[in-house]
Amino acid sequence: MENSTETKLQQRMGRRLVLFPLPFQGHLNPMLQLANIMHARGFSITIIHTHFNSPNPSNYPHFTFHSIPDGLLESQVSFSDAIALIGLLNINCVAPFQDCLSRLLLQTSEEPVACLVTDYLWHFTQAVANSLKLSRIVLRTNSAASSLAFAALLSLHERGCLSIKGPQLESPVPEIPPLKVKDLPKINTRDEEVFYQQIASAFREGRASSGIICNSFEGLEESELSRLHEHFRVPIFAIGPFQKYFSSSSSSLLAHDQSSITWLDKQAHRSVIYVSFGSIVEMDETEFLEMAFGLANSEQPFLWVVRPGLVRGSEWLESLPKGFLEMMSGRGHIVKWASQQEVLAHPATGGFWTHCGWNSTLESICEGVPMICLPGFGDQRVNARYASEVWKVGFLLENGWERGEIERTIRRLMAEEEGQERRRRVMHLKEMVNLSVKPGGSSHRSLERFVAQLL
Ligand code: UDP
Repeated sequence: MENSTETKLQQRMGRRLVLFPLPFQGHLNPMLQLANIMHARGFSITIIHTHFNSPNPSNYPHFTFHSIPDGLLESQVSFSDAIALIGLLNINCVAPFQDCLSRLLLQTSEEPVACLVTDYLWHFTQAVANSLKLSRIVLRTNSAASSLAFAALLSLHERGCLSIKGPQLESPVPEIPPLKVKDLPKINTRDEEVFYQQIASAFREGRASSGIICNSFEGLEESELSRLHEHFRVPIFAIGPFQKYFSSSSSSLLAHDQSSITWLDKQAHRSVIYVSFGSIVEMDETEFLEMAFGLANSEQPFLWVVRPGLVRGSEWLESLPKGFLEMMSGRGHIVKWASQQEVLAHPATGGFWTHCGWNSTLESICEGVPMICLPGFGDQRVNARYASEVWKVGFLLENGWERGEIERTIRRLMAEEEGQERRRRVMHLKEMVNLSVKPGGSSHRSLERFVAQLL
C-alpha cells in the first residue's frame, strides 16, 4: 500500500469493522485481505472466527481476534460434503456469534462499530445484525458470473426445469450465454434440498444487507456486476482483486514449502507449469495417475502441489507408480503446499494448471499467468468456462482426466502460438488490474464509495 505504517496510524478513523470469515481457505484469504485493505484505510479491525480452521492471530498483530465455539465434532469435519458442513456451522454458530457480537457492541473502551462484514455463506448473521441494529455488509468470495450462475441454478430448480442428463449437458444456459448446462455450479451433497436452501438463504439475506463487496473488478466482469446489482438491489462494491493489495500467504492454514521457490530459481524463464487444485478438491487414484502421466509425457518442467488428502484414501504420494519420482527428478518438483502467489509471480512460472477456484483464478490473472482449467465442482466450472471462452486466458480440459489431452494441452499452452495468444490476453488483463486499483480506477473508486458509506 502507498502509505507508511506511521501515516496510517495517524489517519485512524476511530471506527471499527467486525469481520466474520467462513473457515475455509478460499474464504479466509479474501476476508483477511479485505481486513488489511480496510485497516490501511484507517479502520480498526476485529475478527470473529470459529475454533475450526482458525486464522493465526500472530500474523496480524494489528487486528483483534475473538474465537467462538463452533460445536463441530471431529467426525463432522470433512470437506467431502462441504455443503453439509456449512449447513451445520450456520446452526451451531448462531448463539455463540450473537453473544460475542453483543459483548463487542457493549465495549465502550473500543471504537464504535461501523458495520459487520460477513461471508455470504454465513446467512444466519443478517438476522443477528438486524436484532442488534447493526448494518451488515456481505463479502461474496466468488465471481459475479458464478453468483449469477447460482441464481440461475436455483431458479431452474424452483421451476422444476433442471434436467442435466446426456446430450442436454452440452446445451447453453439462456440466462448466462457462455455457460453450458454442465457448467452450472452443482455440488454433490447428501441432501440436495439443503444445498438449494443454502443458496436461497444466501441470496435472500444478501438482498436484506446494506451492500455487497465483490472480489472482482469492472474490467473483468462489467456486465455481470451490473446484472448482480439488478439481482440484489443493494449497493455493489467491486473493489478487487484483493490479491493486488495484499498477498494471501499470511492467512494460509498449511505451512508453505519454501523449496518451491528455491527449485523455481533454478528453472528457465516461463518454462514451468505450476499445478495446484486448491484446498478442498479431492480426486480418485485413477485421476491422479492420469494427471501424473500427463505431466510426465508433456516433457515440460512442473511444480506440483499434492495436498495430503487430495487423493482419496491416500496419505500422500504412495499411489504413484514405482520409479516415477526418480524418473521425474530434476524436471518435476512435488510439494504438499506452496506459497501460491509467490510461485505465480516467479519468472520461471509459465502456466498454471488449476481447478479454477476463484482465488486461484484471480491470482493467475494478477500475475499474468495463462491457465489450463480442470474444474472440480461448484463455481469452479463457471470460472473455467469464463477463463477459457470469455476472457480467453486459458484452455479447458473438456474431457477431464485423460493423459493424452493433458499432455497435448500442456504443450499447446507452453510451446505453441495459441498458448502465446492466451498469454498476451492474460498480460492485458494484468495491466487492467493494475489500472483498476490505482486512483481513478474502477476498484479504487468503489473502495472510496464503500468507505464513504461506512462513514
Ligand atoms: N493456496 C496456497 N498454496 C497452495 C495452494 C493454494 O496458498 O499450495 C491458496 C491459493 O493461493 C488461494 C487458496 O489457497 O488463495 C485457494 O483458494 P481457491 O479459491 O483458489 O480454491 P479453494 O481452495 O477454495 O477450492
